[in-house]
Amino acid sequence: MASERVRVLNPAPVRAEGRYVLYWIQANRRVEYNHALAHAGDLANSLDVPLLCYEELDCGQPHASDRFHRFHLEGVEELAAALKKLGAGYCFYLRRRRADPETFLPLLAEEAAAVVTDDHPTLMRERPVAVHCVGVDSSCIVPVSCIPERAYAAYSIRPKIKRLLPTFLKAPRRTVLRRRYSAAAPPWHTAVRESEIAALVRSCEIDHSVGPSLTYRGGRRYAERHLQRFLSERLRLYARLKNEPSAHATSELSPYLHWGWISPLEIALETERTAATGKLVADEFLEELIVRRELAFNFARYSARPASLESLPRWAQETLRKHARDPRPYLYTRGQLCAAETHDALWNATQKEMRLRGKIHGYYRMYWGKKIIEWSRRPEEALETMIEIHDRWALDGRDPNTYANILWCFGLHDRPWPERAVFGKVRTMTIEGMRRKTQVERYIAEIAEIERTGRDPFRVQ
Ligand SMILES: Cc1cc2nc3c(=O)[nH]c(=O)nc-3n(C[C@H](O)[C@H](O)[C@H](O)COP(=O)(O)OP(=O)(O)OC[C@H]3O[C@@H](n4cnc5c(N)ncnc54)[C@H](O)[C@@H]3O)c2cc1C
Repeated sequence: MASERVRVLNPAPVRAEGRYVLYWIQANRRVEYNHALAHAGDLANSLDVPLLCYEELDCGQPHASDRFHRFHLEGVEELAAALKKLGAGYCFYLRRRRADPETFLPLLAEEAAAVVTDDHPTLMRERPVAVHCVGVDSSCIVPVSCIPERAYAAYSIRPKIKRLLPTFLKAPRRTVLRRRYSAAAPPWHTAVRESEIAALVRSCEIDHSVGPSLTYRGGRRYAERHLQRFLSERLRLYARLKNEPSAHATSELSPYLHWGWISPLEIALETERTAATGKLVADEFLEELIVRRELAFNFARYSARPASLESLPRWAQETLRKHARDPRPYLYTRGQLCAAETHDALWNATQKEMRLRGKIHGYYRMYWGKKIIEWSRRPEEALETMIEIHDRWALDGRDPNTYANILWCFGLHDRPWPERAVFGKVRTMTIEGMRRKTQVERYIAEIAEIERTGRDPFRVQ
């Protein structure tokens, strides 16, 4: 395992008498292309102990709801089966009520030789354990630590990533465990079966008013199906139509990347293979998947406060401050924005797409964010609204991409533009521009139909 991926999280030594190596899954819910699992497996083999994996789903997480619980639970049965096939143990703790214990990690760690977890800038929670503990970065193709300072824009990180890609754009070795895990599951373990997910979700003390996505189902299987659909039907359209929401030319892999059911490394290698055999050009897609995505991880890792306007470049902070009191053409409360009740039918459709599907098409997502800035009393209020909407409805939210791209609306990773009201030198977007460049009415009709029927014809089967 390249040491660039591994970060030691505490000074405690390996416990020689430990019964297993514990892999605490926080971000990468897969057996395939998982450097953290591979590292945990290697460590277990070298200590001649089995591997035990632990995952938890907590009703106490902010904004825990039917949407996120269902999406998460849909992937559990499959992951349990894949780990069993590998020879690893798997314990899943579903904390249903706030009165229930918060976690079983410390208990499992007491008997572990070492703990391995996913090193992820926005998803990793640190829990103190009294045994050797490392975080492994398996979320990016080029490990975040290889670029050890904050990059200021795509143009500055792109050459660094391209230089490092030949080293890291390679399939990892398959993990083979020497010792099978054979102990019985603890009493608090929940074995999740697909047929029982609805009842499990109902039994949890969470927000039942935010319903499941009409479009995305959780789990590795659906991640693979989205990738296959993209490669066979959409890759050839991507460069030309990625900014036309009604054309459905993008991969829709962001929820699966965020939940770790698929790795960007695997997607990039499969895309290169398909492009080579089909004589297609994949550069635009790989630019988003690798350069833009890893720029966001770089930002989230190295900025002190990734969810704050303080992380903006100085020119953006100054220009927003200068225009903070400019009169706004329209002002909406957070409640009106959340309910998609503005004068702008396109914007309302984007907000409904977020609520119905659980994400917004990338091109209109920029428009969505820019208008929230324009229609909020202050930039700080706009930022809070955007984060709140992502926290409540976005299946790809709480990601490095969430914060980097929301802040992009305020000037992050961008350059100054001609000065205008409200935005100052920050780039603006207009409904006229959207109408000129995209099929606005088709998109509005598509979202209205999903709202009317409660069904998304573009859902992957
Ligand atoms: C205001 C705003 C908020 C956003 N919030 C999120 C978020 O919460 N989570 C999220 O994953 N993305 C977010 N994005 C970025 C982008 O819109 C989504 O990644 C993209 O729309 C996902 O759809 P897709 O998988 O079909 O993308 P594709 O076009 O198929 O791209 C493939 C992958 O590349 C990455 N990617 C694509 N566009 C970008 C980008 N601009 N920056 C960084 N990586 C990119 C994503 O991982 C994506 O899944 C946001 C953008 C804006 C403007």
